[in-house]
Amino acid sequence: MIAKLYFRYSAMNAGKSTMAIQVAYNYEEQNRTVLVLKPQIDTKGEDTIISRIGIKRKVDYLLTKDDSVLKIINTELEKNHKIDAIIIDEAQFLNEKQVDELYYLSKKLNIAVLCFGLRCDFTMKPFPGSARLLAIADSLEELKTLCECGKRKATQNLRLVNDIPTFLGNQIAIDGEDHVTYKSVCGECYINYYLKWQKNKSKIQEKPLIKERIKK
Ligand SMILES: [Zn+2]
Repeated sequence: MIAKLYFRYSAMNAGKSTMAIQVAYNYEEQNRTVLVLKPQIDTKGEDTIISRIGIKRKVDYLLTKDDSVLKIINTELEKNHKIDAIIIDEAQFLNEKQVDELYYLSKKLNIAVLCFGLRCDFTMKPFPGSARLLAIADSLEELKTLCECGKRKATQNLRLVNDIPTFLGNQIAIDGEDHVTYKSVCGECYINYYLKWQKNKSKIQEKPLIKERIKK
């Protein structure tokens, strides 16, 4: 059987990192070799995957946007390191080319590739990595978590700056940095927050993100 490219996606705080670490552990328990990767853009935890429930795992490679996954894997194989699976956390930050390389690796080198990431950003737009993964992954699975209303599953990421919901800003702002935090909410709660924000927009003196201020 030929290996698959998997994309397990969700809103934030649905346990993606926990699951990525768990999957790596399961492979290793069966004496199979995994390579754990993470795009470097995510500064949270740096070269470590940190799950909310406290378990951690060091990543083997931090991928920059210019890195070729194919090159990294070929170098590993040349060193006679067997690879049964590639596990990627924060896969939404991969670029399109890297996702295509992962697809190629699964089919031509028969390595299972398991990507964990967000489906879309705080404005409901897909990240480049998620868009490509949603388009070409052999297997898609949604990891579910409940909205704060307790009624429906959370599908969207609400961004808060200084605890105030916002719908403007850069696509990437890391949780916990520059007063940015996130809340995973259902579609209905998301729309309600949006309508409220729109109504009060002129009243709220939004502090722009530090990164945006630098850009100007
Ligand atoms: Zn809700």
